[in-house]
Amino acid sequence: MKNFEFKNPTKIIFGKDTIAKLTEEIPSDAKVLVLYGGGSIKKNGIYDQVKTALKDVEHVEFGGIPANPEYSVLLKALEVIKAENITYLLAVGGGSVIDGTKFLSAAALYDGENPWEILTGGKPTLKGMPFGTVLTLPATGSEMNSGAVITNKETKEKLAMGGAGLFPEFSILDPQVITSIPRRQLVNGITDAFTHVLEQYMTYPAGALLQDRFAEGIMQTLLEVAPSVLKDPSDYDAASNFMWSCTMALNGLIQKGVPTDWAVHAIGHELTALYGIDHARTLAIIAPSHYQYNFETKKEKLAQYAERIWNVTEGTLEDKAYEAIEKTETFFNQMGIETKLSKYTEDYEGTAETISQRFTERGWLGLGEHQSLKPEDAENIVRMAY
Ligand code: NAP
Ligand code: FE
Repeated sequence: MKNFEFKNPTKIIFGKDTIAKLTEEIPSDAKVLVLYGGGSIKKNGIYDQVKTALKDVEHVEFGGIPANPEYSVLLKALEVIKAENITYLLAVGGGSVIDGTKFLSAAALYDGENPWEILTGGKPTLKGMPFGTVLTLPATGSEMNSGAVITNKETKEKLAMGGAGLFPEFSILDPQVITSIPRRQLVNGITDAFTHVLEQYMTYPAGALLQDRFAEGIMQTLLEVAPSVLKDPSDYDAASNFMWSCTMALNGLIQKGVPTDWAVHAIGHELTALYGIDHARTLAIIAPSHYQYNFETKKEKLAQYAERIWNVTEGTLEDKAYEAIEKTETFFNQMGIETKLSKYTEDYEGTAETISQRFTERGWLGLGEHQSLKPEDAENIVRMAY
């Protein structure tokens, strides 16, 4: 096992009707900016619950943060933060609203010229404006981690940021919010969370027995509850297991003491930036090719995953490892997710070269758990996924 330090300061408030507890967490003298997305919260009752909870708290609102939180929209929210002397942020939404809020938390205290540098400068944010979240969509784990991904439509970029100062102070997880989530987003959530686990697991054996079992437990739980969640999102037991699995998949715990990959996300972000493909679907496009391309360095873990998650008992280590990749792709396909880029865009020719070139320009010369994947490897992986 590798050395590690682990601190996760986010307080989780989990369960039925917990949105009402909001005010217990926000300082009484705070001036709050409530941030939300395209308006789903106004249709499903979450907005009303938040407003009721905040009735004695001074607050203003900023709605309209789009999926794949867009930099130019966030700059408008930043103006509100400054003009209104906001001291506390409250994200009400899924990963996009929460990630956008993290950017704003950093940008509100940023003293440089151009806030885009927060995304390109490579410096972790150690202090941000305090914020909490009301999670409306289980998927990203953003509600309990310190990372964010921001899109810039103008430059067709999607870049990550983060740092110890960007953990939410609290996150409210009421599984009842899942009732109104459309199937497409439920499927995305399952796929994103599942792939988060894979990114922290599908590397090489590192002697971290407990982390492996944690990771496998999350994947098994997601597989177990996925059919019930998709059949009836108001099934509270299924919804609560789904929600907690998504949070646990990316709150830092399972990645401690083990190597991590994250190449699937790095490449996937480019597909969203270029074609607007849903984040989770980009992962389903890249993951099977990535595991095939890096078969030799990942085959032990692939075989372990085949045995423990997919109950594959027959064949050599290589046979099992191959079957694991196939089963994973079939799992995505059976939920209705296409795993080839050409199913999403007719303009896919040249994508591999573009991504390789972008990685080279950014100096991303060694991705993956061995930092050995070069831009030309990313190019090959993307081409395999056409
Ligand atoms: P999302 O982009 O936040 O939301 C997707 C859609 O679902 C939106 O249209 C949203 O509507 C709707 N929605 C949310 N909650 C709903 C509800 N309860 N009922 C009905 N509709 C609902 O989706 P996401 O998958 O959570 O986030 C994706 C983003 O997170 C991507 O940008 C991805 O790169 C990023 N990400 C971040 C991390 C991280 O660790 N920080 C990890 C992985 C991915 P509204 O617009 O009305 O809200
Ligand atoms: Fe993700």
